[in-house]
Amino acid sequence: MESETSSKEIKTFDDFRLNDWIVRQCKSLGLKIPTPIQINCIPRILAGDDCIGCAKTGSGKTLAFALPILQKLCEDPYGIFALVLTPTRELACQIAEQFDIIGKPMNLRRCVVVGGVDMVLQGQTLSKSPHIVVATPGRLADHLESCNTFSLKKIKFLVLDEADRLLGGHFDEQLKVIFNELPASRQTLLFSATITDALQKVKAIAAKKVFMYQCHEEQ
Ligand code: ADP
Ligand code: MG
Repeated sequence: MESETSSKEIKTFDDFRLNDWIVRQCKSLGLKIPTPIQINCIPRILAGDDCIGCAKTGSGKTLAFALPILQKLCEDPYGIFALVLTPTRELACQIAEQFDIIGKPMNLRRCVVVGGVDMVLQGQTLSKSPHIVVATPGRLADHLESCNTFSLKKIKFLVLDEADRLLGGHFDEQLKVIFNELPASRQTLLFSATITDALQKVKAIAAKKVFMYQCHEEQ
């Protein structure tokens, strides 16, 4: 295996050792330099660590998980590769859009699983083996509890975006249903604007090494 790239060596998107087409997509979006959360978290995620990343809204957390997931996905595309959970429909759509833009050259198949959309149609899309599922917990749990036509048993990545809100208690029942379906061998990535007790607790109980990055930038 190639040696890890340390965050100290990262100045541009070229320095992450991502596939050329991923770097090209970033540049075509007008992105010039990675943000601190991207510089710190992407090498650790590529190295296989679980990760908790905290930085204020607008600091580029989505690409901090989307870029390494897309890199790993094109190395080993198989079944539903990553599940991204987020508390609202709007956030799910925004995340899916960023995956669409960067993942276009590889014909990325992604599926948004949120309320307000026909369950049957959504189930059909899920059964077509998308690479990435971006979901709100309630609707995904509904699918898992009805006779679903897809499996999350082989996912490689679980992302909790806005993890403080997801782990704040309101989604506990649905998360329990979902987590029951996931393999223990996955990589778990938590991203949040604020670091809460719930996140600290996750770090404390995590079985494997968890890299934690907290950005202290001024607003
Ligand atoms: P967060 O999840 O931290 O609130 P987002 O991931 O939604 O932030 O990113 C906010 C905006 O910043 C998006 O429009 C995204 O395209 C842009 N962005 C992401 N990374 C960079 C970067 N390295 N340089 C400039 N803009 C970026
Ligand atoms: Mg975000």
